[in-house]
Amino acid sequence: MDLSWTWRKLIKIRLVFKSNLHYKLGNGESFNLWLDTWINNQSLVEIYSHRVIYDSGLSRNAKVIEATKDGCWDWKGSFATMEDIRARTCFIHFSNQDDFVSWNKPRQSFTIKAALEAIRPYNNRVEWSSMVWFPNNIPKHSFCAWLTVLGTHNIKDKLLEWGGITSNQCLFACGSPESASHLFFQCPLSQKVYFQNLMGLTNERLKLPQWSQWVSKTITRRNLHASLGS
Ligand SMILES: [Zn+2]
Repeated sequence: MDLSWTWRKLIKIRLVFKSNLHYKLGNGESFNLWLDTWINNQSLVEIYSHRVIYDSGLSRNAKVIEATKDGCWDWKGSFATMEDIRARTCFIHFSNQDDFVSWNKPRQSFTIKAALEAIRPYNNRVEWSSMVWFPNNIPKHSFCAWLTVLGTHNIKDKLLEWGGITSNQCLFACGSPESASHLFFQCPLSQKVYFQNLMGLTNERLKLPQWSQWVSKTITRRNLHASLGS
């Protein structure tokens, strides 16, 4: 079967997700008897293979509660496998609560954030993190700043290097080559937007700093504020 890229990636990380899921048996009405990992984080099919379903006489979609009678285990059949299952499950008791699948920690519900925290690689905090992410930031702006710091915007100087275009002239027709530093700071149009439209200034002698200078000053200022707890 020809799977999409997304599905191939999801299948690849199944084991990572599985190791973070914990099945807590309650009344047995929700968990699949054979496929859910409610016995010490293992499923009956993993322990005994799919043959166990055939031996039991129950369906593949059976819930755990279907292997019980009057609140006690009721495994049918006299196969050796069934004897083993009886021994394994006799210490597992039901409750009147719903079956519960927790993520990572007992009774913790699954969230996208918790899943990301569990599977993402961790690196040391970069010194410019407070410049990009801070309280009350605008996510769209932070994302743009993040790409800029990493140098991953598809700006013309890079596209020219890759051979995708034949000219790296600034999009705003100022005659200079287009780079991140130029686009965000040195381009006359950018300066007009900053000084006149946003700050209401008309003094043309005011000049924005170079990109690298601005980054370094902002990092120093923000780190200082962070260390002072402000
Ligand atoms: Zn320009």
